[in-house]
Amino acid sequence: MINLTSDTVTKPTAGMLQAMMAAEVGDDVFREDPTVNALEAKASAMFGHEAALYCPSGTMTNQIALKVHTRPLDEVICDEMSHIYQYEVAGYAFHSGIGVNLMQGENGIVDALMVEKAIKPLHDWLPISKLVVLENTCNKGGGSYYSLATIREIRRLCLEKGLKLHLDGARIFNALVETGDTPADVGREFDSISVCLSKGLGAPVGSLLIGNQSFISEARRVRKVMGGGMRQAGFLAAAGIYALDHHIERLKVDHAHAQHLSRVLAELNYVSNIRPVKTNILIFDLKLPATNANFLAFLAEHQIKASVFGPQTIRFVTHLDVSQQMIEQVVHVLRQYKP
Ligand SMILES: *Cc1c(COP(=O)(O)O)cnc(C)c1O
Repeated sequence: MINLTSDTVTKPTAGMLQAMMAAEVGDDVFREDPTVNALEAKASAMFGHEAALYCPSGTMTNQIALKVHTRPLDEVICDEMSHIYQYEVAGYAFHSGIGVNLMQGENGIVDALMVEKAIKPLHDWLPISKLVVLENTCNKGGGSYYSLATIREIRRLCLEKGLKLHLDGARIFNALVETGDTPADVGREFDSISVCLSKGLGAPVGSLLIGNQSFISEARRVRKVMGGGMRQAGFLAAAGIYALDHHIERLKVDHAHAQHLSRVLAELNYVSNIRPVKTNILIFDLKLPATNANFLAFLAEHQIKASVFGPQTIRFVTHLDVSQQMIEQVVHVLRQYKP
């Protein structure tokens, strides 16, 4: 099976499993799990912050950040494609009692002017603009990413206007291997950062929330009330440490695979509107008579899985468990499809 559905489908490598089995563990709710503590220390240092918190998912790290940065009746400003708006079950309203103010960026990427226009003036009848969230890379935007210059302009504006800035960095390392910026270059510009270990980095479970000491202390309380306090989580955290040590640079391979698939798709008459491929996500439309159903059925006959991303839209995601040889097989199958 060649699974291009998502980069979340990876299974631990032999080396990662070995690191997990060898982990020293304790009860993390009492902060006595040395492996979780080591992962948190490693991640916060990497991103130039004081502290970090290991959580079960990226949805939880984002939702905790929204909760800690805002009060009910505030609003968060983000792009319309944002994961926090699209795919987190309206958790901003449920957990934090806040509204959302959407920007229309380019493939999910916004600039300081768009943020400035979105900030509401203070009136009794308006929500208070309290927080800006950037997503880097942007999933729905086809893996698009920010330049450090744009991030810095947005940061400057947020400081001037007294707004907090959170990074949904579920796939931040996919951006960093392309831009060449360090995690600290980007990390320093944000009040808080969410990083997924279970996407391209290949860990089975886990995300990190990173920020200063007082932010993370409050975040730890919110994680507990959400039911995210785990016990001997070091077995999982060990996979995260292994991923940070071994699986960052290789993300470039996934990007090259996505580029290759994109060039092949461009030659096929049943494909249109291939979104610019920046990292490991490839989004394209099918031309009728090709449909999602018959295209995916054809792929399935050849042991290939992909996901539906709109009425005539398909998404491929490349990752650790998709080899060069598998990419060649996908190319072969794509060329055979006749709608
Ligand atoms: C995957 C993802 C998340 C969080 O996902 P979980 O499945 O809850 O870990 C957050 N933001 C973005 C952009 C993502 O792609």
